[in-house]
Amino acid sequence: MRVLIAGAGLGGLCLAQGLHHAGFAVTVLERRSASGEQPATYGIHLNADGMSALRDCLPEKPWQRLLDSSALAPDKIRFHDQDLRPLAVRDNEAHGDTGPDLRRRAVSRDALREALLTGLPDGTVLWNKQVNGYTETTEGIRVHCADGSTHSGDLLVAADGSNSRLRGMRLPGLERQDLGIVNVSGRVTLTEPLLAQLPAALTDGSVNNVVPSGPGWLFMSTWDAPASGRYLVWAWAESRDTYPADPTAMGRAALRDHVAQRTARWAPGLHRLVTSTGTDTIAAIPLRTMPALEPWQPSAVTLLGDAIHNMTPMAGIGANTALRDADELRRALVAGGPLTDRVATYEGAMRGYANEALALSTRNARSAATTGRLPRAAFRTVLRAAEAVPAVKRRIFPAPPPRH
Ligand SMILES: Cc1cc2nc3c(=O)[nH]c(=O)nc-3n(C[C@H](O)[C@H](O)[C@H](O)COP(=O)(O)OP(=O)(O)OC[C@H]3O[C@@H](n4cnc5c(N)ncnc54)[C@H](O)[C@@H]3O)c2cc1C
Repeated sequence: MRVLIAGAGLGGLCLAQGLHHAGFAVTVLERRSASGEQPATYGIHLNADGMSALRDCLPEKPWQRLLDSSALAPDKIRFHDQDLRPLAVRDNEAHGDTGPDLRRRAVSRDALREALLTGLPDGTVLWNKQVNGYTETTEGIRVHCADGSTHSGDLLVAADGSNSRLRGMRLPGLERQDLGIVNVSGRVTLTEPLLAQLPAALTDGSVNNVVPSGPGWLFMSTWDAPASGRYLVWAWAESRDTYPADPTAMGRAALRDHVAQRTARWAPGLHRLVTSTGTDTIAAIPLRTMPALEPWQPSAVTLLGDAIHNMTPMAGIGANTALRDADELRRALVAGGPLTDRVATYEGAMRGYANEALALSTRNARSAATTGRLPRAAFRTVLRAAEAVPAVKRRIFPAPPPRH
């Protein structure tokens, strides 16, 4: 079977590895050049879903490269109040050992991409190929690129990211929704004076959330970068309406000053994190999400990753879900049978877990941006109760379902 993949991102490359290894003829068409022109470098945390997909799709060499270029990170989500008093910890490690291969890892996006390209034969990825569209013929699918070239295959996989052009053709009318929430994010190098003002738990690689009694929410995560040292990425979430102006039109310094003003009475270490952040790293990110996915008729054109279930970053699972898609699709294709049946198997499974992921990330985003003091107070009370009473904690933070 000849499989065409539009997009050499995380999901597309993982699928290419898995299918190439299983003996399929794979061609990946990527609009960017081989050197990358990657979006701003940032880290990805790979959870057990992502690691499981990578382990099953990658042959030994790229898998080893991934392990060598990433670092173990605690699988914990912590909640603090604005004075850095702990509210609750969701400890995923307490749900039993997933085994050494599947533990949560931190990796730079570039290092992950390098691992995903390792060992793919020359000519598997065709660079500078912007896919403009496709036609279905009696012999399969013909893909049309902006440079005039065409490429034929039996199956086309749209792995072309959140602004997917192919989604508009395959599932017209399925569009992302704006949630009316805007994140301001920044990246700060963790210097000794900054580290001295922060508890170790905040910078150990776990996910940290500050849930203030008033509006807003601060999300933080840390990574080690070989070139620039240890850094922390923070994201401030707030309803679009309560910024002093349209946040997407505000300058970077004004955005940072706004978050600094919002956090002025917080623990000094937190406020300092914001004021120490270089304005060149500041960005305003309007949160968008795909609606819940309803079933559609399977065909020889399918989709994976952000192209089909772009979600807010508020659950940290966009890449992990894209990798899971790649593995699910690989499994379905390898299993054999008529092509559309195999696609249907993948799409049915994908809609199930993707809808859960979409709902979780939207819920997290809405909870972060609430302006109501009552829901926020209730949320903080639930967190405190969870920390105090194990039975409440099991209910609030249930164990993840088993994976195959
Ligand atoms: C700041 C930030 C932090 C994040 N952190 C995390 C995290 O910690 N954990 C997590 O799970 N997720 C995280 N995510 C989300 C994650 O990056 C995405 O969900 C993930 O990259 C989706 O993978 P993908 O393969 O679907 O798309 P992408 O990785 O976006 O790849 C799409 C590819 O398609 C190419 N392309 C687009 N259009 C065309 C075309 N017409 N023709 C050919 N090629 C095309 C693009 O150039 C790109 O290479 C984060 C996102 C952001 C913005």
